[in-house]
Amino acid sequence: MQNNLSIYNSLTRTIEPFNPLHPPFVGLYVCGPTVYSDAHLGHARPAVTFDILYRYLLHLGYRVRYVRNITDVGHLENDADEGEDKIEKKARLEHLEPMEVVQKYLNTFLKNMEQLNALPPSIEPRASGHIIEQIELVKKILEKGFAYEVNGSVYFDIVKYSQKFHYGKLSGRVLEDLQENTRIIGGKDEKRNPFDFALWKKATPEHIMRWPSPWGEGFPGWHLECSAMSTKYLGEVFDIHGGGIDLQFPHHECEIAQSAAALGNESVRYWMHNNMITINGQKMARSLGNFITLGQLFSGNHPLLHQAYSPMTIRFFLLQAHYRSTVDFSNEALIAAEKGLKKLLKASVTLKNLKPSKESSIDIVSLKARCYEAMNDDLNTPLLLSHLFEAVKLINSAADGSSGMTADEIKETGDLFNTFVFDILGLTDESENKSDEKLTSELMKIIMDLRLEARNKKEWAVSDHIRAELKKAGIMLNDTKDGVTWERD
Ligand code: ZN
Repeated sequence: MQNNLSIYNSLTRTIEPFNPLHPPFVGLYVCGPTVYSDAHLGHARPAVTFDILYRYLLHLGYRVRYVRNITDVGHLENDADEGEDKIEKKARLEHLEPMEVVQKYLNTFLKNMEQLNALPPSIEPRASGHIIEQIELVKKILEKGFAYEVNGSVYFDIVKYSQKFHYGKLSGRVLEDLQENTRIIGGKDEKRNPFDFALWKKATPEHIMRWPSPWGEGFPGWHLECSAMSTKYLGEVFDIHGGGIDLQFPHHECEIAQSAAALGNESVRYWMHNNMITINGQKMARSLGNFITLGQLFSGNHPLLHQAYSPMTIRFFLLQAHYRSTVDFSNEALIAAEKGLKKLLKASVTLKNLKPSKESSIDIVSLKARCYEAMNDDLNTPLLLSHLFEAVKLINSAADGSSGMTADEIKETGDLFNTFVFDILGLTDESENKSDEKLTSELMKIIMDLRLEARNKKEWAVSDHIRAELKKAGIMLNDTKDGVTWERD
């Protein structure tokens, strides 16, 4: 059973009533990626979920500060307190500086987010850029007596914390069970209790990413950055903290403990977790061979994929499920999503070309109200889509003449599509980009014909000028015996 606190019930119930003269400020913090490999399907779900929340809050008129962190240090293998740093491990394998690894995968991540049409957050702070804030937080927790130092490492004292606060309230974990279930790794545990977690770790001689601290050279524990950066940018108490359900324990539980220990009260008003993605009914894992990156999905370049799936198909597919339910990826489901999206977008074009009739067929006021109700009910996007498909049905029957829509209804339905399909759900018509491609190829044909004409007239200066200018624009011409072809540089 999920703890009540982790369920974000409805926007209208959880945030004060909206007053347009004084739009409330909403602080939204979402745990971002640890950038040590290409973004995959698992990254698409929180990206789309919290993008919808962000877009909807903006649509309602709230002022939102959306912070999504980038973990570039301190996340150790198996989410544990022992083992290699995920980024350092990759750096060794790829013969790169750890920060080169971070940059490389961060670039891909941000490109994929743009392809998914996820709006960029207001701030994307990096853990490595907030070492000072993290050290200050450790000091504070030590001062308050909820942590202890051992051999240059600092650990959070969960037993001590539990005497005053409730550790496990978010995930429903009970301390006694944790005691039984936490393994001591390698027998060299310096913690008072195996479930205590690291706030600061002493760096071993071979550890690359290290900073000086009052406890010697080391690096921050993984959970610490989110407490430090959320407080820095959103204040000691803020509205919404999001992330994948896999982060609920231990990551978010530890965040609550750190903030409460340091500040004396909890920081987060509402926790919101998106559920996981399975592939053909299985958990996604590198060892199972079903690990699909977003790049592979968009190009179709993976043995499990029957075809390429566009970013909007993935987005639409995710929106068809409620963010708190699991979602299973399969080729069949994605092909169905592709069809559904096409149908929705086609109706929007049909609507624009519809001839108004005197006959009325749509109760647009009620439809619009139901669309808002669906969003207000814990971002129920599947229900919202089903309402929008009611409109699709009416548009199509107005187009084939079996019913009609008045000029006002056409306009209001157009507005409804703009608001919900494009602004809030963030869907775009990718075929519009394709027509840009088409236009480019038509323009290139005209340019190449002009160049050929110049060459036929032996006007070499003109033809060379065209070639040189195209090169500047990133287009290379290849003269072959069958004619001229072009490619992007
Ligand atoms: Zn986090």
